[in-house]
This record gives sequence, structure tokens and C-alpha cells, in this order.
Amino acid sequence: MITTKAIVLSRKKVAESDVIINLLTRKEGKVRAYVNGARHPKSRFSSTTQPFNEGIFSLFINKDLARLSEVQLTEPHLPIRDDIDKIFLATYMMELVELALADGEAIDGLYDRVAHALVALETAQNLQLFKLVYDLKVIALIGYQPALFSCSSCGATRELTTNLSVQMGGVICQNCLASCVDCANFALDDLKLINFILNKSFRTIQRVAISDTMLLKVATWTNRFIAEHVVRRPLKSLKLLGSN
Ligand SMILES: [Zn+2]
Repeated sequence: MITTKAIVLSRKKVAESDVIINLLTRKEGKVRAYVNGARHPKSRFSSTTQPFNEGIFSLFINKDLARLSEVQLTEPHLPIRDDIDKIFLATYMMELVELALADGEAIDGLYDRVAHALVALETAQNLQLFKLVYDLKVIALIGYQPALFSCSSCGATRELTTNLSVQMGGVICQNCLASCVDCANFALDDLKLINFILNKSFRTIQRVAISDTMLLKVATWTNRFIAEHVVRRPLKSLKLLGSN
């Protein structure tokens, strides 16, 4: 048995009264766990196993399906649950992690980043910006970062354009531009925004004024990049998010 901090990524009904939850654990990465009786209103697991709860979970680890033994809730994130837009965004945040990681896959630092983001979401104001920052920082940590300083097709570091290719995964140089099938032209400031988000703290980013048009353009490209490179199937929760 292991005892670890974990965040509930998703919860799925099975059998009469049981559920299977997907957890992002601090020690073991992504873990699937069977929870007996969680749908009985009186079960101690009924409220503690809801998505984006954070707690200390004791799990019997089996080969591909663990079993939940105990849970002590530490962060129910009530301010998120009071706001429907924040519920949708938190649901998306959990789904992104769930679909980006294979079962049992662990990424250094990911647990802390997701846990901090959920706390930050409680008081976040600009949810569009919040989502973009979360997307870029999480995918960079997992190992997918848009290439901005070398051509994503040939690797050249000279004669770079401000065109981005989803398929290639970043900027394209002058030589590769003619053969690029999905290049979209961006302003230099758009690329600087991506770089700024990747390199600055969440608090610093929130203090900078970013136009809605720029935000939408960069966020739309980032969504496509994630769909192409990061997740294993389409993100259902994306449909619930207003402007995306
Ligand atoms: Zn090139």
C-alpha cells in the first residue's frame, strides 16, 4: 500500500455503486483506482472522490487498477465549485493531464504545478489568460514546447519567419515556408507572448495587459498544437469553454 498526495482527475461510474477514479499522485504519477461504494450517499468516499479534490490517498497498488483504502481531503477547492466557468476550466485542466499521460506515467514537478494552478484558479480573474498559461506551462513540463528559436522543420536558427506550423510544432524558416502546408502568420508580439508565458511566473503574467485579440489568436493555435501533439484523443471538456 502507498500513501500519497493526489488530485482527482476524473471519476467514472461502474457497477451498481462503485466508481473508478483517475488520480494524479505525487509519488506514482497517473494512477487508476477502484472505489467501492462511492455512490452511496453515506459513503465516506462519496464527496471525497469528486474531480479536482486534493487529498492524501492510501491505495493498494495492483498492476493496472489500484484500490482506494483511505482518503483525507485537504483541498476541496470550494471557490472553484461556486463558479460554473471555473468548474468547466478545472474540468478541462484535469482532462488535459489525464489525456497527456499514460497510466503509471510520472512527470517530475507536474503534481506541484497542477496543485498550484488549482489554488490560483480560485481567485483568477481572466480565465482565458489563465487557460493559456496553464496549457503552455503544463505541456512544456510534459515535454512538448512550441519551438520558437529554431525552425521546427529543418532546425535552422537563421532567417526565421513569424509563421507557426501546428504540424511541425513551431516557427518555420524562410527556406521551409514554401513547403509548409499549415503555416499561419503571427505578429512578432504573439511569439513574444508565448515565450513570456513560458518563462515568467504566473503572478507576473497576470499583471501584464494582453489584448483579447492576441490572446484568442495564440490560444487557438495552442489548442491545435495540443490536439496534434499532446493528447491521445479529443478533449471533451474543451467544448464547455466559451471562447475556445
Ligand atoms: Zn527550416
